[in-house]
Amino acid sequence: MKLHLELLQEMGVEYVPRCQKEIRRRRATTEKQAKVEAEVEETGQEARESRDNPRLEAVREELGECKRCPLWKGRKHLVFGEGNPFATLMFVGEAPGREEDLQGRPFVGQAGKLLTQFLQAIGLTREDVYIANILKCRPPGNRTPQPQEVEQCFPFLLKQIQAIKPRIICCLGGVAAQTLMGQKVAITRLRGQFIPWRWGIELFLTFHPAYLLRNPGQKRNAMQDFLKLKERLEALAKEEEGS
Ligand code: URA
Repeated sequence: MKLHLELLQEMGVEYVPRCQKEIRRRRATTEKQAKVEAEVEETGQEARESRDNPRLEAVREELGECKRCPLWKGRKHLVFGEGNPFATLMFVGEAPGREEDLQGRPFVGQAGKLLTQFLQAIGLTREDVYIANILKCRPPGNRTPQPQEVEQCFPFLLKQIQAIKPRIICCLGGVAAQTLMGQKVAITRLRGQFIPWRWGIELFLTFHPAYLLRNPGQKRNAMQDFLKLKERLEALAKEEEGS
């Protein structure tokens, strides 16, 4: 606990907020979701798995044991994504690294630990949000994704987004931002802003946690970005309450 608080302090956190349930939960917008939400009320268990969202599960099935680009040859596991299948906030990174490939889960290495700490600093857990990547398989030596790989993989991320229906997508780093925005972007210029995208979703850009591990001096700025995310989530929750 002490170590955790020291890390938060290093990130510029001056206080630890109480967990805010209202920004974690999602209002049901379909009959199926309503059923899931009713179960949540009854059992106290939140929807946590892709299979709790049939539309998301259908995307997983369509993807199958994907061989659409050559990256399948070097993978141990395909990394589909994980978290709340009805998350209001979704994170998109670049591609699985070594640890993610071994475990079949996104952001579970050192960069993932840092992402988890930023989430905790704003009162969220990994299970409150959905975490995915532009690519679902690890590029050799963690090299930058190639256009042909993105071309094959990105449509599945778009389908995941349509199934989850987040209100905000936080792009972690340049590859995620450029792919989702469809143009070259400078993270340092556009970070910390909510940019209207499609399907009523706002994009938010911040540094990739791996970049922050190499440039710890930017952690404070990243923390400011996460605090903006928290504020926006609270505003959206209020909006939903009032509607
Ligand atoms: N970096 C990413 O972009 N994604 C991961 O899942 C892990 C590291």
